[in-house]
Order: sequence, then structure tokens, then C-alpha cells
Amino acid sequence: MQIYRLPARADNYIFLLHNPEQKLAAVVDPADAEPVLHCLRTLGASLVAILNTHHHGDHVGGNVQLLQQFPDAVVYGGAEDRGRIPGQQVFLQEGDRVAFGDREAEVLFVPGHTRAHIAYYFAPATPNEAGNLFCGDTLFAGGCGRLFEGTPTQMIHSLSKLRALPDNTCVWCAHEYTLKNLEFALTVDRTNVALQQRLAEVKAVRSGNEATIPSNLGVEKRTNPFLRWDDLGLRSTVQADNDVQTFARLRGMKDTF
Ligand code: ZN
Ligand code: FE
Repeated sequence: MQIYRLPARADNYIFLLHNPEQKLAAVVDPADAEPVLHCLRTLGASLVAILNTHHHGDHVGGNVQLLQQFPDAVVYGGAEDRGRIPGQQVFLQEGDRVAFGDREAEVLFVPGHTRAHIAYYFAPATPNEAGNLFCGDTLFAGGCGRLFEGTPTQMIHSLSKLRALPDNTCVWCAHEYTLKNLEFALTVDRTNVALQQRLAEVKAVRSGNEATIPSNLGVEKRTNPFLRWDDLGLRSTVQADNDVQTFARLRGMKDTF
């Protein structure tokens, strides 16, 4: 399975999964149809699946136009998103599996950004490979999604599921927010050497206008404050008494950063 990262809108990424043997493709969170159709033409592949993580327009905006071109494509989304994702045919729950070519994604229910948000995890096909996580707006490189329809407790529970995946997992998040996220992270975690190094790397990458996605889950575990709600240093920095309060305060500070 090959993964193509297609930039869209101001800072979105659409991900196209390609099975070259069968000339099949699936797309994760098509903000718009054009970049997907262009990539499909270049590859000579047909679209068989649209995998939506949640209902926001910058994740489902291309669904209808893609379905016009590929009427047999199956549209997947979270069960709780019923009525909110254009063309949705499959209503997924935690633990469900989605087949694509010779591969299969596991569905993780990760509410918080929205009440219906799901993530798709492709486990490694061989021991030498890394898994691939498509997490929409739940986990970002250096950050996490805003809590539009969920609570800090819910988001911690959701992010715990992602944090439990192997360190070498490739993290394909839907936005290029990394630099701003890490600039915030450093304000609450100044002495974190891994974070300092990561910020320097990301600054260099972004100054060349390159993408910082995919990220690596091991790096996220060490540098992303929103995966470290149980870090006692962060807890004392934000003057919280417990994990939920730590997370809530971090999220609140980031909202106005
Ligand atoms: Zn969103
Ligand atoms: Fe988004």
C-alpha cells in the first residue's frame, strides 16, 4: 500500500491510499475532490473507498463530487456521524474493520474534537514495516484537535488509545499545524530537550515549505504535551491537581495561544 499526501485548502492534507497491483485507491478525508481526481488520473487508479474521520467540511467537502465520478465507491464514517457525512453508507464503531485491497484498517472511536470522530489504523503487514494511523483532527503533530463536541475526559480516553500504538507508527494527521503547536508546547515544557530538537527540525522543514506529516508516534509521545497529561512536570507548570485538569488547562491555554 502506497500513501500519497495531497495538500488542500489552507493547511489540510488529504491522504490517498494506492494498491498498484489492483489499481485501486481509497482516500482519507477528501476536503476537496480536485486534488484526489488529479492523483487518481496520474496513477490510473479507481476510487473504491472514502474514509472519513468526522463530519467537518474540510474533511468531507469532496465526497459528493468524488461519488459522481466513482459511483461505486463506499463512503465510511463513524456511526455517530449518521446524517452529517454526505453519501455515508457504512457506520463504523470501535473495533470494526475496513478492508482495502489486501489490507485492513481497524477503527478506533476517538470522540472529543467531535462526538463522532473515528481514526483508522493499518497495522504493519510485516514485522519490518510501520503501522499507519489516520487520526483526522484528534491528534496533531505537537498538538490535538479543539474540543468542539467533547470533554477533556473524553479526549484523554481517545488519545490514550492512540498513545497505546507502537512508537514507530506513522501519524497521518489532517492539518499542517505542527510549527504553531510546537511553539505553544515549548511555552509549557521549556526544559524538554526532545521538544527543543523537534522544534528546530520543524522550523527548518517549514522554512523550506515542506510537510511535517507524517509524524512518528514515538516522537509525539516525547514532545506533544497533549499526549503527556500525566506528566508531573506539566501538571505542576499548569498548576493542576490531576490528569484531567492538566489536559483541560493545556487545551484552554492553547485555544488562546
Ligand atoms: Zn475538524
Ligand atoms: Fe479539520
